[in-house]
Amino acid sequence: MLENAGLSGSKTTSPTLRDWLDRLAASGRLAVMRPGIGLVYELAAIANRLDGTKASFFPHPDGHSGSVVSGLVSSRAWMAEALGVGQAELLQHYQTAAANPLAWREISGAPCQAVVHQENIDLLKLLPIPTHNEFDSGPYISAGLTIARDPETGVQNVAIHRCQVSGPDRLGILLLPRHTDHFFRKAEAAGEPLDLAIAIGTDPATLLSSQAIVPLGHDELEIAGALRSAPLDVVRCTTSEVRVPAQAEIIIEGRLLPEVREPEGPFGEFPQYYGERAARHVVQVVAVTHQVNPIFHTIVGGGLEHLLLGAIPREATILASLQRNFPGVQDVHLSLGGVGRYHLYVKLKKTQEGEAKNVLLGAFAAHYDIKQAIVVDTDVDIHDPAEVEWAVATRFQADRDAVIISHSQGSKLDPSTDAGVGAKMGLDATIPVGAPEMKFKRIRVPGEEEVDLGRVVAQGTDWRSTLGS
Ligand code: MN
Repeated sequence: MLENAGLSGSKTTSPTLRDWLDRLAASGRLAVMRPGIGLVYELAAIANRLDGTKASFFPHPDGHSGSVVSGLVSSRAWMAEALGVGQAELLQHYQTAAANPLAWREISGAPCQAVVHQENIDLLKLLPIPTHNEFDSGPYISAGLTIARDPETGVQNVAIHRCQVSGPDRLGILLLPRHTDHFFRKAEAAGEPLDLAIAIGTDPATLLSSQAIVPLGHDELEIAGALRSAPLDVVRCTTSEVRVPAQAEIIIEGRLLPEVREPEGPFGEFPQYYGERAARHVVQVVAVTHQVNPIFHTIVGGGLEHLLLGAIPREATILASLQRNFPGVQDVHLSLGGVGRYHLYVKLKKTQEGEAKNVLLGAFAAHYDIKQAIVVDTDVDIHDPAEVEWAVATRFQADRDAVIISHSQGSKLDPSTDAGVGAKMGLDATIPVGAPEMKFKRIRVPGEEEVDLGRVVAQGTDWRSTLGS
């Protein structure tokens, strides 16, 4: 089924994190630092400086035996490359994978269990865990895939939850009211802990699968398989029934404790503000397993990696949701300036007057994080914010084309909301149906795209010398 899903035939995914690093290194996109970079601030400072150009590899930070990597995907093009598809196919590929999950394959003797620690666990001694931002409460595991099993059905769920190192074998974890939390409530109601595992250092496809917006009961590791067009190898944890990616660099096995809450935060989040300190859930760590010479992946808050990992799965979900009701919707984009979550651009082939405003209402219903949506015509490049602004500048009038919905649900991490309650603003920047053709005709110079600059530019010629005949 997946082979026939209309995807690129030359699919070459990177099955492991190390394969992806090889690919980045071979194309000049991996900066390898001197050994001994500081884990507190210095590592994140360097990763931030290189964000958007290169991934950062830190051998043995602070003399640690392990290494750290950050910035695995700096652009939409890198993510498409990691999945083995063209950039234009990215959302379609993600939609197809989410709709056609591929069951994982269980193996034994996995690389992620080459080294096993089950006693006297001290996380900061075992793993090079960095501290990123000025007011972070301390070292955090920011790129761990938290994998848990439904206590009733055994179906797994995967999500990234930020984890504060609270003690040698203790983590504070932020569980938003989603799927992991749903499993935990069942366990806690029975007075039981919930077994979970935190997988660190997976390939980009597995990382991206964790951000899928799919209903409860869908195992994101099966979406990882579909994204990679091959079943994901998993292995049973050494202390529980949880299955984890066999090729992960590091696995932390633990138990979410019932009736225990401890302070967690602050921590620098994707909107480039701190998530607040509050009483949060607690994980008792019972084992750490890892590859030989493990690589610890860290995501520095608000960087491109962070924004893109959130944006791409959301775009795929929002596009599918809009296209169910509006066949004229061709593409959507969550802009980076809108933190990959809050500002949506929609490309619409409008056929009915008023349709763009219905699309705006559909967009706000598609995901509660969306705060501002702009609908444009098909001649506007929605991946270029300057193009979208041009459409607003020349096709939009505020008294006629704006929609404001007050006091609706938004993102709790948007500090301008009242605990997540705020306003939506929609802008219809489309041309009226039946407008006179020349009124909105975009100027164009015939032949501009075909100009061969190598043929017409006289390299190294002094302009004065050309004046005479
Ligand atoms: Mn889920």
